[in-house]
Amino acid sequence: MQKIEKIICAGCTLLCDDIEAEPHAGHWRFKNTCELGSQYFTQQSPPTQTHFVDDRVAAIDLAILAAAKIIKKAKSPLICGLDHLSTEAQQVSWKIADIAGATIDTTFTNRGRSSIFSLQKTGKVTATLGEIGSRSDLVVFWFCDPEATHPRLLQRLNQKGKDRSHRILVVGDKETATAKRADHFIQVSAENAPELLGRVRSQLELHTDSKKSAPDPDCSPVIETTASELLNELVNAKYGSMFFEQVTEDSRFDPAGDSISRLIRRLNDLTRFVGLKLRTDNNAQSAENVLAWSSGYPFAANHSLGHPRQHGLEFSAESMLQNQHCDAILFASRLSKSELVDQLPASARVHFESIPQIAFSTQAMTADVQFQMGLPGINEAGEYCRVDNISMPIRKIEPNDWIPPEVILEKILQNLLTLG
Ligand code: SF4
Repeated sequence: MQKIEKIICAGCTLLCDDIEAEPHAGHWRFKNTCELGSQYFTQQSPPTQTHFVDDRVAAIDLAILAAAKIIKKAKSPLICGLDHLSTEAQQVSWKIADIAGATIDTTFTNRGRSSIFSLQKTGKVTATLGEIGSRSDLVVFWFCDPEATHPRLLQRLNQKGKDRSHRILVVGDKETATAKRADHFIQVSAENAPELLGRVRSQLELHTDSKKSAPDPDCSPVIETTASELLNELVNAKYGSMFFEQVTEDSRFDPAGDSISRLIRRLNDLTRFVGLKLRTDNNAQSAENVLAWSSGYPFAANHSLGHPRQHGLEFSAESMLQNQHCDAILFASRLSKSELVDQLPASARVHFESIPQIAFSTQAMTADVQFQMGLPGINEAGEYCRVDNISMPIRKIEPNDWIPPEVILEKILQNLLTLG
């Protein structure tokens, strides 16, 4: 074991690339990780890779053939859970969907899908973490707490060797760890947040037209004053950045996301402003990129007619399961099976348990065919998308002979083609 420098941590979507691993008493000791990263690297992973068919250990070729037969036999196979796979494995998954006439989706559930619809409606003005760190004089955190979800974000926004050059403003309903480190904390209840955003946008319209803002008689004076306070911060920035989280679990409408995107776009009439969503959904951003480039749709694409189709959420994994429109499933997961199915509505759960399953999972899981996958950065390598949509090549700490999902998927594809 030798010291390894600059490895990437996949503990959150920040994908910190300055981690050092040092051998210590037969184990690795990690430098530059936060607590979340340390927990990620110390996860238990089995020493060898094992695959199962009908819950019995099986040779890899037999498991591959069994998986190909399940897909071949199915009239409407479903492929999902791409957010747990590397970009390379996502690309092969789409090829299988294309050949098998399958439906393919990025995640298991419809939760938070509204942000994609919001993006399609309003677009986004965004930047990389590097640009935000080097150019921003104001960083706003809107209802998010990166100290908990992306613990090294504030540290990484500071340019190396320089003191913090930006002001931090947090807007939220409670004093989080990030709010405690902020220069200014504006407290507003989650219930009043949409109204506040609306008033900031209205005041901004008048500000851009050099008109004095008239108070809205239907708006509470407190919100009106808070909106002026917030607007003052935003328009005085030379280069502002706003980080936000998915606030709604609604699958169709994301009013907060829409409103933030519109506000950021309008702010660019006066100054430079960018926004970045603090995603926590593993490699889902890469999955959306892969599906958009391959099929033209960023999620829920159906290939049963020989060409890709999408119709809102009709072909999402959750809808396909709930409506019993699929008769076999191939999925990837770093969650346990109970955590996975708990995300689904009851009717979808029942159908999921009733159809043949091919699982790529890091944990032992009951399925007709189970392929064991590794953890990125520990015993698996591959491309993963950072929170700002930059693709990062993750390598494994120690070489091993584990067969990566993309190779297994490619062999399933070859078997599908030869099965005729
Ligand atoms: S911030 Fe995220 S990527 Fe960076 S060390 Fe912590 S868990 Fe790992």
